[in-house]
Amino acid sequence: MTVIPLLQLPAEPEPSVTCSTCAACCCQLEVMLITDTGVPERFMDTDDWGGEVMLRLDDGWCAALDRDSMRCTIYDRRPLICREFEMGSPECITEREGIATAYV
Ligand code: SF4
Ligand code: SF4
Repeated sequence: MTVIPLLQLPAEPEPSVTCSTCAACCCQLEVMLITDTGVPERFMDTDDWGGEVMLRLDDGWCAALDRDSMRCTIYDRRPLICREFEMGSPECITEREGIATAYV
């Protein structure tokens, strides 16, 4: 019989975290434009320190977000930071918790 030490037992499964069950929470974060991925100028803004960022509307959402589908309208040209924001990462979980009421 194989004895598995308690500390090696698999952890409880995490509730599923996917963008399809998320109200694009991370699209309220400030997104700096650090490389040229082809973001249209109408979606660009300048922050207080002169850096290029994605334009956010008065309610905080990124201007490139489609409000009906809650999907990125420039997905193929989205900024590097958006590409690297990992679904299920600690940052993602934090953002989802921030607007938990979006899921009820
Ligand atoms: S990466 Fe995370 S926070 Fe962003 S839309 Fe997907 S599940 Fe939501
Ligand atoms: S560019 Fe697209 S993925 Fe990035 S914050 Fe805006 S809507 Fe979200």
